[in-house]
Amino acid sequence: MENESKEIPYKIYLSESEMPTSWYNVRADMKKKPAPLLNPATHKPCTFSDLQPVFCDELIKQELNDTDRLIPIPQEIRDFYKMFRPSPLVRAYCLEKKLGTPAHIYYKFEGNNTSGSHKLNSAIAQAYYAKQQGLKGVTTETGAGQWGTALSMACAYLGLDCKVFMVKCSYEQKPFRREVMRTYGASVTPSPSMTTDVGKKMNEEFPGTSGSLGCAISEAVETAVKNPGYRYVLGSVLNQVLLHQSVIGVETKSALDKYGIKADIIIGCAGGGSNLGGLISPFMGEMLRGERNYKFIAVEPASCPSLTRGKFVYDFCDTGHVCPLSKMYTLGSEFIPSANHAGGLRYHGMSAILSELYDEGLMEARAVEQTAVFEAAEEFARIEGILPAPESSHAIRVAIDEALKCKETGEAKNIVFGLTGTGYFDMKAYEAFNDGKMSDYIPTDEDLKRGFDAIPKI
Ligand SMILES: *Cc1c(COP(=O)(O)O)cnc(C)c1O
Repeated sequence: MENESKEIPYKIYLSESEMPTSWYNVRADMKKKPAPLLNPATHKPCTFSDLQPVFCDELIKQELNDTDRLIPIPQEIRDFYKMFRPSPLVRAYCLEKKLGTPAHIYYKFEGNNTSGSHKLNSAIAQAYYAKQQGLKGVTTETGAGQWGTALSMACAYLGLDCKVFMVKCSYEQKPFRREVMRTYGASVTPSPSMTTDVGKKMNEEFPGTSGSLGCAISEAVETAVKNPGYRYVLGSVLNQVLLHQSVIGVETKSALDKYGIKADIIIGCAGGGSNLGGLISPFMGEMLRGERNYKFIAVEPASCPSLTRGKFVYDFCDTGHVCPLSKMYTLGSEFIPSANHAGGLRYHGMSAILSELYDEGLMEARAVEQTAVFEAAEEFARIEGILPAPESSHAIRVAIDEALKCKETGEAKNIVFGLTGTGYFDMKAYEAFNDGKMSDYIPTDEDLKRGFDAIPKI
């Protein structure tokens, strides 16, 4: 909480030589490890060979690795990172002044690359290991489109084929996202499609359906398993993705340390949990080792409240139930959130690591409503200049709320939040907000019950 006299610049940049050389694996410092993935057929913990038909070998090792604290980042990935990393840690001087708060606000900005989000940090790692294994290509799903874009960029760089199943409503609503992916050489198929068994079944059962993330995942997995030389990759939720995203937290910590700043509150939006998990990992490590204390806040949409209203149980990760089961905070794989403009935060479940930490009381969670989120986005855009992604704006909302609390108490806390990306492809959402047509649908207990009823009894 002590704010030193050393002048803090607007942007704290690290040099290339100060970039992390290892990812930090927070599981190594967790006394209680996240529960293992379960094989959907046997309900036994997944082994390496269970996962081999679906995922790349090296990524499975990372997924199952609960013990190594540091995992070296291969040189080729570090070279790619240099195109857009280290990312700046920005002191939000203008926002602080506007709010009249004694708090110091910092944000780690991950939107400085064409994919527009932090997802490229994991996309390049996953594509790299697929290439190392001699594979032809990878398959994946994308909802809002950020992950598909990031993956297509990484695959283009490495010369891998990339097949993206894009949730049909986004495919139709975000034609420009689709074209960015195609420009990077990916093939983009609207989901549910007629190219997979799962897709055909969905189209038969629900003609005219606009699709869901859970269904697109099943289609991508099926395609990977059926095509020799292909594996499936996922942009969030998994342990390996949190591991890759720890580059955000390691850089943030180095930048703060450089100026002797001790964060008090660290905030991030949580969809599947990868950016938040990555941002807080090294700080959480200090807390788990009993070295320092922090307050961590996960922010989720009130329309898809996995942490604040979900159950901590084993559940399916996808609609077709082809993926392993994960113990996580979940709303049930059949829960369909109401239309919400933060597409990246509409997943029914949550990272097993964050779920465990939240269950142990090491992290807090808050659910926020859409219009309040866009109010914060607008305020931030007008004073800090960056047009934030709707997902990222969830973190902005709570950072502003915390800074306003400091104004009341007079405390000069250091607040750090993750600004995961930019919102240029989300102008329909901004349009609805600007026209005063945005609604806040919060699911009733009845709505949630329907989702919970579909959770398997394990
Ligand atoms: C995908 C996405 C998120 C949410 O995903 P997490 O895995 O929870 O980090 C947040 N912000 C942006 C900009 C995204 O693209």
